[in-house]
Amino acid sequence: MIRIPFNRPFATGDELDYIRAAIATPKFSGDGKFTADCHRLLEESLGVAKAFLTSSCTHALEMAAFLLNLGPDDEVILPSFTFTSTANAFVLRGARPVFVDIRTDTLNIDEKRIEDRITKHTKAIFLVHYAGVGCEMEAIMAIARRHGLAVVEDNAHGLYGKYRDRYLGTFGELAAVSFHETKNFSCGEGGALLMNDTRFIERAEIIREKGTDRSRFFRGEVDKYNWVDIGSSYLPSDLLAAFLRAQLEHREQIQSARQRLWENYMRELSGWAADNGVRLPTIPPECEQSYHMFYLILPSLDSRQALISHLSQREIFAVFHYLPLHLSPMGRTFGGREGVCPLTEKLAERLLRLPFYTGMTDSEQTQVIDAVCAFRC
Ligand SMILES: *Cc1c(COP(=O)(O)O)cnc(C)c1O
Repeated sequence: MIRIPFNRPFATGDELDYIRAAIATPKFSGDGKFTADCHRLLEESLGVAKAFLTSSCTHALEMAAFLLNLGPDDEVILPSFTFTSTANAFVLRGARPVFVDIRTDTLNIDEKRIEDRITKHTKAIFLVHYAGVGCEMEAIMAIARRHGLAVVEDNAHGLYGKYRDRYLGTFGELAAVSFHETKNFSCGEGGALLMNDTRFIERAEIIREKGTDRSRFFRGEVDKYNWVDIGSSYLPSDLLAAFLRAQLEHREQIQSARQRLWENYMRELSGWAADNGVRLPTIPPECEQSYHMFYLILPSLDSRQALISHLSQREIFAVFHYLPLHLSPMGRTFGGREGVCPLTEKLAERLLRLPFYTGMTDSEQTQVIDAVCAFRC
């Protein structure tokens, strides 16, 4: 029996060569050659107006809150079933989160429940494409247009996933991507802000460079650089961009490896799932997923906990995902309480994520599948 982690970082083999090349350049702070390469790779592959690497997806979301001028008195609609960063991004600016429940099939924000929660204070919708399966973007963009709201896509899971043949992250004014070690493409810690609306580009460049026009100075557009706006330091080192470039260049290899593993799980577990009242992921026909994770929805909290310990006795590490934000100590300070998002409450306690990573071997996956199939709910 081999120990199977929940995640194992993957390297394509080109990372070290690129890092060596980055070290040999006169500059490996932010916005060097490899950062520019990553910007171009993202912009060309996705067709977005502009991409900026950031130190994390969290920071890209914070930049989005700056760019939309979110502040006290503003309300932002978001799913409760997400990571804290989706909310913190604008809570840091003083805006209030308004939690909306999820759909049972995709676990994405339920577009049918959004309009009820819009008030005269609502400024934006921050949504998450859970597991890289697209939200119902047609309906959501129509609601946003009708009410004059900005849409920010937290696309930490869904890089290269599609909705109606269009890449996730290209619908909202702004989108955020994660290159954390647990995501499909990684440089350890990193992210990107994607801009689909060109009016944000100039200010994003300033916010990302500590509120200065240093980028314009480096391009020779101004003869000195100055403090011109609020901002922070959101640039990753070019050494990380060098690592990331290798990953983005191998995107087809990475995605097809993940697709194969995902389809193996789906095929090999479907009989067991049907016999045990376990639900497997649902991918609506209009969505092409990003193969970010493989989850199970067990019949109850008890059976979910029992399966986690059954697997851990066999040296297999499965995890739950997202304690609902509206029930967290912080979420409760914004009016969160039991019953506000009933489906989120019910599904979050039954969800389990199986080990799933790009370099997973067939024998590791077979061990997981055999262990799961030996479990009875
Ligand atoms: C991972 C994740 C983040 C945070 O990404 P970082 O790059 O670690 O900041 C934000 N939102 C969601 C939905 C995530 O899964």
